[in-house]
Amino acid sequence: TVPVIAVDGPSGVGKGTLCRRLAEHLDFHLLDSGSLYRLTALAALRGGVDLGDAAGLAAIAAVLDASFAPGADDLVIRLAGTDVTRELRAETTGNAASIVAAVPQVRAALLQRQRDFRRPPGLIADGRDMGTTVFPDAPLKIYLVASPAERARRRHKQLSEKGVGATLAALEREIAERDARDAGRTASPLRPAGDAIVIDTDALDIEAVFHRVLGLVRE
Ligand code: C5P
Repeated sequence: TVPVIAVDGPSGVGKGTLCRRLAEHLDFHLLDSGSLYRLTALAALRGGVDLGDAAGLAAIAAVLDASFAPGADDLVIRLAGTDVTRELRAETTGNAASIVAAVPQVRAALLQRQRDFRRPPGLIADGRDMGTTVFPDAPLKIYLVASPAERARRRHKQLSEKGVGATLAALEREIAERDARDAGRTASPLRPAGDAIVIDTDALDIEAVFHRVLGLVRE
């Protein structure tokens, strides 16, 4: 079977950066599962589908016309042929995605699509439920944690590098809200798999986390 490394944890914990580095280093495929929820939310907002309309959202997720292509330092993501990479990364889209992701029918509609990313030589799967639901048989499961304050600081730095303005306090509030929604939902609530290795990244930089995970890969 094709190996999968499941990397889960709350938003702003550094999963994206870690996963890109791992995929590049190991020459594995990369699944950015959050982008599928973001794309579903964006398609709903564009198509005038209410975020409370579970059946409408599931229908959108089922036929999502998305493509992922490697870009300069991030994936270029297209929705129905249009580059939506920038819009996808916006906090508003992330928040809408977490509303959409609470709908069980949406999660069901996206399940097989995520599993299809598992192709030789291997996959780095970035998300919330990679280890618990999508790839429960993954031979290595990592669960990253960091305090809300530290995650808000990291997000703030990331956004300001992109020229996006946001206050630390607002970011921390949004992160706490998103955590509560992701952990409190009944469909695949955010939690580490029983066999996940939990890494607290508060005092570790990306380099240290990368090397720790690489050490686990080699075991
Ligand atoms: O990781 P990212 O911030 O792109 O995820 C956006 C939202 O999508 C998360 O807040 C979460 O609610 C949802 N999500 C999820 N399951 C995943 C990935 C993301 O529920 N595997």
